[in-house]
Amino acid sequence: MPPASLYSDLMPDKTLFERIIDREIPSQIVYEDDDYIAIRDIAPKAPVHLLVIPKHVSARVDEITDAGEMGRLWLTAVRVAREHLSDYRLIVNVGSGGGQEVFHTHVHVLGGWEGAHPVGFGT
Ligand code: AMP
Repeated sequence: MPPASLYSDLMPDKTLFERIIDREIPSQIVYEDDDYIAIRDIAPKAPVHLLVIPKHVSARVDEITDAGEMGRLWLTAVRVAREHLSDYRLIVNVGSGGGQEVFHTHVHVLGGWEGAHPVGFGT
């Protein structure tokens, strides 16, 4: 394994979430296993706002073509959601036109409105 600085030089295009996974950027981690990490969103759009992120990088969720990989992502999102919330929304923004800002696939888990959730589908 090369030193961190050399690794950074070799990997100039690491995504923001890869940097979080590699502990180069601090975050509030609420779940982690070999394949996924879940963190609190830095700018929450709901009382509880988590991001479930696969460690295997794809830019957009529609790049995932393997049913097992897609299924494990959603099962992990549901597992994380249910650890924090009884009712919730799962949202994936796909492409800049779909509101995606970080091009490393992630599922938003939103909830905690306590009965008065906002209408519409915005995050
Ligand atoms: P999206 O617009 O679907 O790509 O969502 C990206 C999300 O990442 C947004 O809700 C941001 O608030 C969130 N975000 C950006 N930077 C960070 C960070 N350093 N830690 C946690 N969440 C972040």
